[in-house]
Amino acid sequence: MIILEEQGLRDGFQNLEKIVPTDMKLRLIDQLIDAGLQRIQVASFVHPKWVPQMADADTLCLQLKKRKGVVYSGLVLNLKGVERGLAAGLNHLACSISASNTHSQKNARKTLAEAKLAFKEMVELSQKGGAKVRGGIQCAFGCRYEGKIAETHVLDMVKHHLDQGIDELALADSTGMANPHQMRDLMGKVVEMAKGKPVILHLHNTENKGLANVYAALEAGVKYFDTAFGGLGGCPFIKSATGNIATEDTAHMLHQMGYETGIDIGKLAVISEALQTYLGQELQGQLYKLWNNPEIKIV
Ligand code: ZN
Repeated sequence: MIILEEQGLRDGFQNLEKIVPTDMKLRLIDQLIDAGLQRIQVASFVHPKWVPQMADADTLCLQLKKRKGVVYSGLVLNLKGVERGLAAGLNHLACSISASNTHSQKNARKTLAEAKLAFKEMVELSQKGGAKVRGGIQCAFGCRYEGKIAETHVLDMVKHHLDQGIDELALADSTGMANPHQMRDLMGKVVEMAKGKPVILHLHNTENKGLANVYAALEAGVKYFDTAFGGLGGCPFIKSATGNIATEDTAHMLHQMGYETGIDIGKLAVISEALQTYLGQELQGQLYKLWNNPEIKIV
């Protein structure tokens, strides 16, 4: 079984010009669960001034009608975010820092050393509040400011994260720079270090290598991937920006290769098409367009 965690509500919606209303988000979460998603990142607890699309994170989470067995997760980047996530009733928090010093300073206004210290505090506070922690490393495969990120540096951060007693580890190719060989080599080592703890990969398709990297990561033993329905993420209104790997595209490839995901691609394709209509803009995912075309066969 390969587990896909839906990121469209967070990574996707935070990059849309249009602010999606809370009740529509709540409906979508239900539809995504009906389509088989068991893990959904529903919001990020960041400052509403910087990310107005996530300003309803608290009210959204408080209104969730939580279903048994589903993981509702929130992204937090600082202690304030942890406090908000816990107060909003989430028991799964994704605490994340960057592997790149420059990106960390731009994104979180912290040096790497400061971010590592803050991460430790975030983990402690989350676990004290009864939440499971997914410890994330952004820009683990490359940074647009710094270029290559040394593998030894990433592995040091992985060790640091694991030493804090996190429940799950997540590595993000935030910039879409990873290549399959790099993916296979690094993730092989990371999976070994995690000693059975879930290792999640967050992939962006910016250089069109997303699914190739999924394949390489599968070979390295990764069983968890972040995906977004319709390939949301990045900015659909800027040509060069691309999103997460699409949930339905990834699930389809996995099914063809004999893996189970529990995901109903037909239901997801309907969700993606409805969002395309809502936005008045074609999404970057490919499969929902094929699936919704009655004249062609997909096997
Ligand atoms: Zn992302």
